[in-house]
Amino acid sequence: MNLSERQEKILKIIKENSPISGDEIAEKLDLTRSALRTDFSILKKLDLIHSKTKKGYYFNFKCTPKKVSEVMSDRNSLDLNTSVYDAILHLFNHDLGTLIVEDNNCLVGIISRKDLLKSSLVGKNLEKMPVSMIMTRMPNIIYCLEDETILEATKKLIEHEIDSLPILRKENEKLIVVGRFTKTNVTKLYFEKLNKL
Ligand code: ADP
Repeated sequence: MNLSERQEKILKIIKENSPISGDEIAEKLDLTRSALRTDFSILKKLDLIHSKTKKGYYFNFKCTPKKVSEVMSDRNSLDLNTSVYDAILHLFNHDLGTLIVEDNNCLVGIISRKDLLKSSLVGKNLEKMPVSMIMTRMPNIIYCLEDETILEATKKLIEHEIDSLPILRKENEKLIVVGRFTKTNVTKLYFEKLNKL
């Protein structure tokens, strides 16, 4: 069963903050607790979370994530018209390694740390140079759909020797960006696995 975008968000919040009350989750999502009741009961039925009276919701760490959408990071993307200078600031401010470039929510480019280094060595006016001049473009971008498995996504990272994959969702014939799957996600998963042994 595919989780909705909201259920994915709830799961991520619970995973990072267990135990957390329904009210606290609702506050983080800017919604009321009653609006989330169905989502909580679906996540419980799927055995992804459990709850304890007066304590709140817990993430069920015993269940191993399978889909990229369960572990992906925020998209944290840039608009096509952003300058290379602002892209470098964005990379530092958000502690990123690879930047996704979007046009109207659709994936159009990807920029690595090395792409930015290269452009700052040869580029003259980085404030005026748009990221579209230095990015790797569609259709050369390797990406994943949100229901692909972590195994498939990790294989893509290894085979193409890249650090990050945009995660996409098909919506009305368009491919919109919903997140990023990175080597850091893989390292965290591996750590969790080792830590449980
Ligand atoms: P680094 O440049 O730091 O080694 P990567 O290995 O991720 O980082 O990137 C190497 C090159 O591949 C860069 O030119 C970048 O634009 C490109 N690249 C990065 N991610 C992707 C991707 N998902 N699809 C296609 N090209 C990519």
